[in-house]
Amino acid sequence: MNLNNSIEILKNIGEKRLALFHKLKIFTVFDLLSYYPKSHDDRSEIKKIYELEPEQRNGICITINSSGENIIINGKTMTKFKVQDKTGTLELIWFNMPYLKNNFKRGEEYYFIGKVVEKNKTMRMISPDYEKITDMTGIELSEIDNNSEINCISGGRIVPIYKLTSGITQKMLRTHIFKALEVAKEFIQDNLPIEIIKKYDLYTKKQAIIAVHFPKNDEDFYNARKRLVFEEFFLLHIYYANCRKFVQSKESPFEYLEFPTKPAEDVLGFQLTNAQKNAVLQITKDFSSGIPMNRLVQGDVGSGKTAVALVVSYLIMKNNKQCSLMCPTEVLAVQHYKYFKPLLKQLGFETTLLVGSMKTSDKKNARLDIKNGTTQMVIGTHALIQDKVDFHDLGLVITDEQHRFGVMQRNTLREKGTAPHVLVMTATPIPRTLGMILYGDLDISTINELPPNRQTIKTYAVNSDYRARIFAFIGKEIENGRQAYVICPTIENSKMKDLKSVMSYEEIILKDLPNIRTAVLHGKMSPDEKNEIMGEFSLGNIDVIISTTVIEVGINVPNATIMFIENSERFGLSQLHQLRGRVGRGEHLSYCVLLTDSKSKTAVERAKAMSNTSDGFEISRLDLTLRGHGDFLGTRQHGLPEFKIADIKRDLDILYLAKEAVDGWYKPENLQNSLLVEFFTQDLTDLMTTL
Ligand code: ADP
Ligand code: MG
Repeated sequence: MNLNNSIEILKNIGEKRLALFHKLKIFTVFDLLSYYPKSHDDRSEIKKIYELEPEQRNGICITINSSGENIIINGKTMTKFKVQDKTGTLELIWFNMPYLKNNFKRGEEYYFIGKVVEKNKTMRMISPDYEKITDMTGIELSEIDNNSEINCISGGRIVPIYKLTSGITQKMLRTHIFKALEVAKEFIQDNLPIEIIKKYDLYTKKQAIIAVHFPKNDEDFYNARKRLVFEEFFLLHIYYANCRKFVQSKESPFEYLEFPTKPAEDVLGFQLTNAQKNAVLQITKDFSSGIPMNRLVQGDVGSGKTAVALVVSYLIMKNNKQCSLMCPTEVLAVQHYKYFKPLLKQLGFETTLLVGSMKTSDKKNARLDIKNGTTQMVIGTHALIQDKVDFHDLGLVITDEQHRFGVMQRNTLREKGTAPHVLVMTATPIPRTLGMILYGDLDISTINELPPNRQTIKTYAVNSDYRARIFAFIGKEIENGRQAYVICPTIENSKMKDLKSVMSYEEIILKDLPNIRTAVLHGKMSPDEKNEIMGEFSLGNIDVIISTTVIEVGINVPNATIMFIENSERFGLSQLHQLRGRVGRGEHLSYCVLLTDSKSKTAVERAKAMSNTSDGFEISRLDLTLRGHGDFLGTRQHGLPEFKIADIKRDLDILYLAKEAVDGWYKPENLQNSLLVEFFTQDLTDLMTTL
């Protein structure tokens, strides 16, 4: 027996069933055993007939001592068995399953479970689920069997309920897993170090797997689940520890000479906030530490991460190395390019843009400049910089708006060239716990302060009765020289006609404000078109941009003062906060208006949260509680690992415990000298494909 064998080696798995199991992603015996139930059904109580409670679901164990009959009533076949024990009589009833008449053999004992009703003083059990009680003596069941009163899988115990696919029933899957446990449980090896199991008083893997399916009681299940959750977090932390170890095993990309940051600060035209200074300080410390930096700077929207990037890039360039700044979109790359180029020029350095929409010849020239080192700062989209560029001497890689990159992407990046310093910047402030899961391989700096004189953005939630007034207000702001964003949930009108769309919106707003200059922006436009619109908007040649959420990330037009969001119920809290962050970036008082006619509880709570707080950390904490962590950052693309059983919201305690365990235990030798390597490699590969 090898748990990695195909489930075909188990009994009763023919071709058809095999295909069904494959649909559930169950291929090997181990997959089957790790197909954890989504819930359980407590069927431990077994009653005598006189104990049956009408109108309740009851479980009973009884010998069939008469033959059944099929009776036709109103065109329906009713199959009926009359059974007795010493305490009374019971009728077992099924409808439209005439074949059941021959299904039960006289003299044999069965377990039945179903709803009982009393009819004409007779107890009837309607459409019960059933299982034959077998003589299972001879099979070494040990841990599994002694939690059932009877020799039966689906009764007399707490039974597992699984997620199914059509063609497989609960009973079928439950039986397969039970039987697989019988033959395979002795082969379940542990993938946690024994000293960790002892220290944290955990179930062994074998105990856990058995009890997660067939627990003896609540406590047994709790222990099993705890162990399996712990294991997932433990593996994740090990993975991150390995990443760190890997980075630390590399030498710093170059000998770092310290320079004053003042010249770079001077060209900015403002004083860095203390939080920005602090981040700069932490980064320069990393530069001089002798190993490659691997740091995340997280700061709320508008906290000034770009300035930090510029100052630390300057230090790298002073050390005669190149920097690259990678952005998730072209619009953002172009914006950064326009900001960096003149400032770096003053400092004596060249900036080069590299985006997909550039002419081939321009791209070729850009690559040449990068390769022979005539340019020091390269700004572009991550796809472009990541794959196709040869640097002359790359010292620092910055990725902006990091929540769009996963761990794997970070790693491929690092493998490029000679382990440059890596700095990631994110505008999605995340709670510490989630940070441990998403960015466990990174050191974190937090910019927890906004530049001075920022006014809080006045936030209002209104319904559609107010649209005309909002338009009037937008008109007034435009007269004063300001600009506005309108966000719609869809590009074109769809069947859901209550949703406002970008393409139909100009008509609506121009009715009220015929003289304003509008433009639309959405994800189906080419990068070139988008760049052009954004360029015109930042030059002040457009008054109102009507956009989908493509505008969400990083855009900086300080003259824009209104963010008006239609159908705000369609957006998550963090997303609304990001959108709001597009305004209030200059000296002008700014406004965010959420328009929704939804009365749903979440929509109301979100609107309330948005009006009450402007703190991104608080917002993301609330977002996490309002939605599951899966929705929190969108989906997979944001690099949340898919846990099989762990739930970030629910299992925080175990997360910390596992982190502590890894911190105390982790040494690369520990991994190498142990049998665990094999397990880790396999389990990590599984986990990582979701990272
Ligand atoms: P984010 O952190 O969202 O990327 P940005 O770097 O785009 O924020 O900065 C937002 C705005 O704040 C920009 O207009 C920038 O010039 C300005 N800014 C950044 N730091 C400061 C500061 N210390 N004092 C004044 N303004 C600042
Ligand atoms: Mg930014």
